[in-house]
Amino acid sequence: MKKVLVLEDETSIRSFVVINLRRSGYEPIEAATGAEALEQKKQNPDIKVALLDIMLPDIDGFEVCRQLRASDPKLGIIMLSARTQEMDKVTGLMTGADDYVTKPFSPAELLARVDALYRRVGGDEELATGELVQGPFRLNTHNRTLEKNGDRIKLTQVEYSIMKLFMDNPGKALSREDILNAVWGRNYFGELKIVDVNIRRLRIKIEDDSTNPTYITTVWGYGYKWGI
Ligand code: CA
Repeated sequence: MKKVLVLEDETSIRSFVVINLRRSGYEPIEAATGAEALEQKKQNPDIKVALLDIMLPDIDGFEVCRQLRASDPKLGIIMLSARTQEMDKVTGLMTGADDYVTKPFSPAELLARVDALYRRVGGDEELATGELVQGPFRLNTHNRTLEKNGDRIKLTQVEYSIMKLFMDNPGKALSREDILNAVWGRNYFGELKIVDVNIRRLRIKIEDDSTNPTYITTVWGYGYKWGI
């Protein structure tokens, strides 16, 4: 689950944020005080993004930010403030916040910020779970296996390495040289054709219709592109 810590002492604002996060597929973890927020983060170490109000009844939001940042350098932090002074922004960013939203904010504005930050910090999800999930595909980087719609697809080590390269670079055109270097290594002096041969085999295994591939598409005169 995509957990987001919501630290806000005003119940109405907190509920508003929580409802909107939940609607967008996040799992909000609520806190009304700084101490509660720090405790929640301890209980939920998989929280990836935190929204922190600044004016709180106990510790101020900047101090919470400082402590969260010290315990989890990768956490994404957005400060929520009613004040618009430039000083708040500076202080917030100095204490380790990644972004800043001024109240009152619209749900769209807040979610755009949360989504953007989540994308930036969520990239290491793979390290924790060992899994890369895209569309119907689930690549397990710990045991080097691939599933499509829950069914295991048997891959050679080379095919696995190509899949991993594609899934690490969605939407990016990769030249045949890129693929050769990444998968076979720079010291491999074979022919580029080996790339095409493996892609052809991979397509038969993973495409719905390998004669009309939709996941691994050909970039004419260049190479291949992965897309979901
Ligand atoms: Ca407040």
